[in-house]
Amino acid sequence: MLYLDYNGSAPLRSSVENFLKTRLENRGPYANPNASHFLGSKCLMAIEKSRRNLAKFLDCENHQIIFNSGSTEGISSVFLHTYFKFKDTDRKIILVSDTEHAAPINESTFLENHGFKTVFIPTKRDGETDLDFLQKCFIEHKNEIALVAIMAANNETGVIQPYERIAKMCQEVNAPYLCDTTQILGKASFSFKNCDADFITVSGHKLGALPGVGALILKTPNEFIPTIHGGNQESGLRGGTQNYVGIESLNVAVEELMQKSDCHQKIEQLRDDFETKLVEKFSNIIIFGKNANRICNTSFISLPNTNASDIQDALQMQKIFVTTSSACSDQSSKSSRVLSKMNIPENQASGAVRISFCSSNTKEDFQQAFDVLSNIYEKIQ
Ligand code: PLP
Repeated sequence: MLYLDYNGSAPLRSSVENFLKTRLENRGPYANPNASHFLGSKCLMAIEKSRRNLAKFLDCENHQIIFNSGSTEGISSVFLHTYFKFKDTDRKIILVSDTEHAAPINESTFLENHGFKTVFIPTKRDGETDLDFLQKCFIEHKNEIALVAIMAANNETGVIQPYERIAKMCQEVNAPYLCDTTQILGKASFSFKNCDADFITVSGHKLGALPGVGALILKTPNEFIPTIHGGNQESGLRGGTQNYVGIESLNVAVEELMQKSDCHQKIEQLRDDFETKLVEKFSNIIIFGKNANRICNTSFISLPNTNASDIQDALQMQKIFVTTSSACSDQSSKSSRVLSKMNIPENQASGAVRISFCSSNTKEDFQQAFDVLSNIYEKIQ
């Protein structure tokens, strides 16, 4: 089996699996981390150790981290914070890149029903956000901007946006910036301090930790308006008993990622060789975002006039697992929304399959993916 859908979800890392096995064999500790007894304190200490390591990994301060259930929750809580902060002010414009993940797109639609207005920032053919358009919006809506949402790396194309520059542009007009960093973490070097966004998101299951755990990172936690009220967990910013086993699994994944931070180049080279060989064999193949800056593991490719689901099925028959676009929209019969926003013609978009590798994939894995895929393409052609 060759699992090549790491942008959809990364299987548990073996380090995480081993950690969890030992934890289960030792039968705990299991306790409420907020309880004052010994077992509670042990669980809380494990959470705080995870916070320290995650802060190192992201280059942020410990107190800027709020553990939560993942990126969708993080994005949702930023939009709700925005609503409560600006609902009675003139700041009602939300700028959202049109190739964002479904979470910011649907949150902005939700806020539209509550007095806010969304302006979508177009994406250019190579997958990069149109910063000239963004600049024009800043001029037109100067003191009206409540939030800017532009992701760091796209989940389908892997294209990395110039998020540090975007953060500076936002600061010039005092516009809060949500940079969805779900896909860039572990696939390119990243620093919260250098990025300088107001909010970033972490999703555990994209990093090989358990699903259902993640974090929201806040530049100024004392200004954040919480929307889940409970006990005083996470400094009062996110109520509810913490998913401490999930948080510990995230810690193990993050520790491994920090040790392997030099593997991006190797995977990028293997990915580039894989694409080069495909282009040599099939002159009409399209690699979306090829000339843009991309995360190292992603190939979003299409043989024109083919059907992506047929290719996905044929790969699956050979036990290779890929998706046709993002996992969240894979069930939809329409071709990728991201590609349509990049103005990719339908006969190219209809054949698009997303292949997303991981840092432990070997040269042989890439070769196998190439052999099987080119076989399928030859038959289809
Ligand atoms: N943002 C991006 C770019 C994603 O790829 C995903 C997951 O597919 C999410 C947000 C949502 O993450 P989660 O599954 O942690 O809610």
